[in-house]
Amino acid sequence: MNNTIKMKDALYIANTYNRYPLYAKYGNGCLIIDDEGKEYIDFTSGIGVTGLGHSFEPWVEATTKQLKDLEHISNLFYTKPAVEVAEKLCKKTDMKRVFFANSGAEANEGAIKVARKYAYDLYRGDRSEIITLKNSFHGRTLAALTATGQDSFHQNFGPFVDGFQYAEADNFEDLKNKISNKTLAIMVEIVQGEGGVVPLAKTYLDAIQDICDHQDILLIVDEVQTGIGRCGSFFAYMQYGLHPDIVTCAKGLGNGLPIAAILLGDKCADTLEFGDHGTTYGGNPVACAGASVVMDYMNDKLYAHVNQMGNLLTTKLSAMKYVKDVSGLGLMLGIEIDESINPRDVVMECMDKGILILTAKNKLRLLPPLVINEEEIEKGLNVLEEVLIKLGDN
Ligand SMILES: *Cc1c(COP(=O)(O)O)cnc(C)c1O
Repeated sequence: MNNTIKMKDALYIANTYNRYPLYAKYGNGCLIIDDEGKEYIDFTSGIGVTGLGHSFEPWVEATTKQLKDLEHISNLFYTKPAVEVAEKLCKKTDMKRVFFANSGAEANEGAIKVARKYAYDLYRGDRSEIITLKNSFHGRTLAALTATGQDSFHQNFGPFVDGFQYAEADNFEDLKNKISNKTLAIMVEIVQGEGGVVPLAKTYLDAIQDICDHQDILLIVDEVQTGIGRCGSFFAYMQYGLHPDIVTCAKGLGNGLPIAAILLGDKCADTLEFGDHGTTYGGNPVACAGASVVMDYMNDKLYAHVNQMGNLLTTKLSAMKYVKDVSGLGLMLGIEIDESINPRDVVMECMDKGILILTAKNKLRLLPPLVINEEEIEKGLNVLEEVLIKLGDN
């Protein structure tokens, strides 16, 4: 790859990312093309973002048209794309209102504020605690980071935000023990993404819903990674019959432009009042014009395709040598491999052979575009199998 880019990146960009040696120049559908013209099949979607594929024509058209009309004006004025996306989000769910943010972390920060204000309005400060789960991931800003139930992310960044408790995922006894008359909300991912693609059990989620209903505890579902068709339904919680009070989404909503949303159900629809919350870029017309297109492609046919491709991947992966377990839902998959193989080595070897994949903790992770087809999957898995055998047999 072009060495100047690599050198200047090292000089001028904060050292937070251990980048792979690939200079991405173009994207087209499920393909990424680097600076030397080499093609890669993208099983990452920019970490679960470009669900409809790169440079998806209707999305490019809608965003460029909006760019020419009006790029930004702020939330002091009305714009059409934001209203359109909010209406589409509410109509696809039972949620009543939307607050637009710009990232998953920002959406979760807002969700935490909404939950706190709801409890403040009703219980005058008697309820001050939010329970999140161990092994969860909710983002890198301070309250979202505090909500994240993984010590590894907390190192060196204290003091943290007050009012969080952590319960063992899929252990209802532990959760019940942590619930008190101070609990105001429980926040969960349906499939713990960064935690290693770990789906929560239906019985566990049912029990959470039940206790939330009976004690007026708000259920916050973080669908930042699982949402927008990724798991084979619009939101993953829909497959479990849950009715959350607050839902956050981001990654897939923009298909490549930064946008996030906090969806507010009946209980919290009017919790936020004038001046309670805000963000300069939230509801940006260009990002919303793109999200509006994304919303139009969310339908049963796409979900069926996601489930079919997810099943195909799971079946084929499970039969591979050195694959110990495949977890996940829809096109959000984690692959546990033999401990003798370093996941980062697998990613590097696959990249060399024209396939882009991810890791999550010590697993491999696949988040391909939702529109990926059988042929692309076939090609990708052939490479992955070859790489696993090469590294495993060594
Ligand atoms: C990625 C992610 C976030 C953080 O989103 P950002 O846009 O990176 O701030 C929060 N929650 C979950 C479940 C995520 O996967």
